[in-house]
Amino acid sequence: MYKVNEDYLKLPGSYLFSTIAKKVNAYTQAHPEKKIIRLGIGDVTQPLAPAVIEALHSAVDEMAHAETFKGYAPDLGYAFLRDVIAEKDFKARGCDISADEIFVSDGAKSDSANIQEIFSRDCRIAVCDPVYPVYVDSNVMAGRTGTYDTKTEQWSNVIYMPCTAENGFVAEFPKETPDIIYLCFPNNPTGAAVTKDKLQEWVDYANKVGAVIIFDSAYEAYISEDNIPHSIYECVGARTCAIEIRSFSKKAGFTGLRLGYTVVPKELEHGGVTLHSLWARRHGTKFNGAPYIVQKAGAAVYTPEGDAQTREQIAYYMKNAAYIKKGLTDAGYTVYGGVNAPYIWLKAPNGMTSWEFFDYLLEQVNVVGTPGSGFGPSGETYFRLTAFGSYENTVEAVDRIKNM
Ligand code: PLP
Repeated sequence: MYKVNEDYLKLPGSYLFSTIAKKVNAYTQAHPEKKIIRLGIGDVTQPLAPAVIEALHSAVDEMAHAETFKGYAPDLGYAFLRDVIAEKDFKARGCDISADEIFVSDGAKSDSANIQEIFSRDCRIAVCDPVYPVYVDSNVMAGRTGTYDTKTEQWSNVIYMPCTAENGFVAEFPKETPDIIYLCFPNNPTGAAVTKDKLQEWVDYANKVGAVIIFDSAYEAYISEDNIPHSIYECVGARTCAIEIRSFSKKAGFTGLRLGYTVVPKELEHGGVTLHSLWARRHGTKFNGAPYIVQKAGAAVYTPEGDAQTREQIAYYMKNAAYIKKGLTDAGYTVYGGVNAPYIWLKAPNGMTSWEFFDYLLEQVNVVGTPGSGFGPSGETYFRLTAFGSYENTVEAVDRIKNM
C-alpha cells in the first residue's frame, strides 16, 4: 500500500493570500459600490515590450515550417540565450561567468524550490525573516526541517536571520553555522537592497564556514543606486560559494511567459563533486528545456530595443514606487524600500498589528496591501505595498491614505 510523503503534511496552510482574498470578497459583497484598489499584487500589469512580442511572433512562424521547426530545446538552454546572458548580465559587469555555467529554466520559483535537491538532507538552511516562503517550504517537503511551532511560527532545524529596521533589513551572520544560506536582494517583501561591501562580507563568511549562498536576484533590474551589486559574482570569491537565481518575470514582464535561469559556477565543489555536475544531472533528468519561442523572447530583452523598452516598464513601476514612498513619508509613515525594488515596506501606525492595519486600510480607504506578518514573525507590524499597479490607481490609493 502506498504512503504519502509525510513531510508535506507538516506544512501549515498557506493562508496569507487566501485570507486576503476572503476579507476583500466579504468587504466587496457588503459594499458593492466601493472601488477597491489593490496594491498587494506581486504580479506585473504592463504588457510585454514590443521587441518581445515581435520575437514571439517570428519564433511562432518558425515553428510553422519544417525547415525552421524546433522540437525539444537543449536541457540547459539554447546557446543564443546563454551567450547573451553571460555577456550582458555578467561579463559587462565584470563578473567571470561563462555561458556553460548558466542553466535556463522556466523561472526563479521552480529553481529556488528545486536547488535544495542537490544537497544532502543533513544540511542546515538559514533564511531571512521575513522571507519569500518558497525557500523554506521546499526544504520542508524534502524533509530537511524539523517541526513547525505555531506559536513562534518557525521550524525547528532552520536558522532564522531576523531582518529588522535596526539592521536595515539585511541579515547578520547567525549564531549557529548554516550549510545553505538563502539571500534575496533586492528583497521581497522588504524592498531592501544589500551594498556590495555587505554582500562581500557574506561571501567571505560563506567561504570561511564552507556554506553555499543561494542568491535570489529576481529584482536585480530594479536597482537604481550605484553601490548595490546586480550580481553576487561582483564580489571576490563568490565563484566558490554562491549560486545565483534570476528571473525574466519582473525584469521584462514574463510572469505569464515563464523564463529564468540559475548560475552554478564550476568551482563550487565538495569532496571532488561539482554542484554544476549535479544541477546539470538534475536538469537533464527532470526538465526538458524552456520553450524555444520563450527563449527567443528572452533573447529579445537584450537587444537595444528590448533593453530600452523593458527599462521603460521598470521606470514606470519605479515611478509608482517613488510616489508611494514620498506620499506616505509626507503623511508621517515610516517607510522603507521602493528605491532599488518595487516593494514598499511600511510600519503600521499607532502600534497596530499587520492584520489590524490591513483591515483598517480596507475599511477606511478601500486599499488592499499585504500584511508583513504573512512573510514571517519579524514582519509583524509591517505592511507591504507594491508598485506593480497602474500609475492612476497608485496615485489614487496614496492620496486616499494621505487624506485618511
Ligand atoms: N523570487 C522572489 C524573491 C520572488 O518574489 C518571486 C516572485 O514573486 C520569484 C522568485 C518567482 O519568480 P518567477 O516568476 O521567475 O518564478
